[in-house]
Amino acid sequence: MSTTHLKDLNISRLPRNTKETGWLEVTPRANGGHWKLPFLYVTGSTISPILLVMAAVHGDEYEGVEAIPRIFHKLTPKHLNGTLLMVPICNVPAYGTATRNSTIDGKNLARVFPGNAHGTITEQIAYFLTEKLLKPADFLIDLHSGGIAASIPTLIGYIHSDDERGKRALAGAKAFGASVIWGHPLPVPPGRSLTIATDLGIPALYTEAPGGGFARLEDVKCFTTGVLNVMKHLNMTRGNPKLQPVKHHLLGDGNLDDVITTPVAGYFRTEVDLLEDVNVGQQLGTICNVFGDVLVKIITEQAGVVIMQRRIHRVHPGDSLIQITQRLE
Ligand SMILES: [Zn+2]
Repeated sequence: MSTTHLKDLNISRLPRNTKETGWLEVTPRANGGHWKLPFLYVTGSTISPILLVMAAVHGDEYEGVEAIPRIFHKLTPKHLNGTLLMVPICNVPAYGTATRNSTIDGKNLARVFPGNAHGTITEQIAYFLTEKLLKPADFLIDLHSGGIAASIPTLIGYIHSDDERGKRALAGAKAFGASVIWGHPLPVPPGRSLTIATDLGIPALYTEAPGGGFARLEDVKCFTTGVLNVMKHLNMTRGNPKLQPVKHHLLGDGNLDDVITTPVAGYFRTEVDLLEDVNVGQQLGTICNVFGDVLVKIITEQAGVVIMQRRIHRVHPGDSLIQITQRLE
């Protein structure tokens, strides 16, 4: 096995029956050299199906970064049908600064897909991923977590629709084997990898996990087993997926930009747990000033299940605090 530099990636021309790590050149850097994405691929004798696995689209989400090499080491080309493409760090600039977004242009990679060939660094990475990796793919898994700021249960998310693409995404989500499944009705909010995949008719899944600026080993293992399970489900490898009982099947808008926010600055204290059922009018938490006086009580206007909570206590006006979603079954 060698490490190669791939200047002009063409998935259909990758050598067959091969397992390789390499670097994908995206665009020149101001200080010389190139912005490059790490790339791991495994090819069997046939090209299809092509599964694309992405991680660290946000630079402070580590579970997928650790899971991808584990997946790679478990696979043998002669036992693989199709092509597995994996990019463990998509947002290389943000990963370098351990931040959600790139500090070079301030942009969120998960809001700029399909990108722009002549745009800022984040837009150019999105364009590269879309053109070179997403468009040829038959199935997408985008590995996310809550990162530093948000806490989210370990789950597999999918685009919920009644068409063939939706049915294949739900079947893939069930095969992934997480105990929480979260479906999102169409339309997918703009700018995500899943938005473009859905527009292209590609079934797409993504993960969440508590995150926190580190990766819990149980989440790394869940994501590793989950991707290997989906490969079995897609008949890329032999065997049956190792499933866990589904404890929560949730349905709702997965847009983490559209959540309960704080109207004031202060110190946020939650009073609910992830996956807790809440009722209309229930107090979810408080915002206090530095003397401990309650400035605002955070009250929910909808009943449902707590799916996301802010982890960082200090809040500025408009910061996201809590998201509520619904149970499907
Ligand atoms: Zn993310």
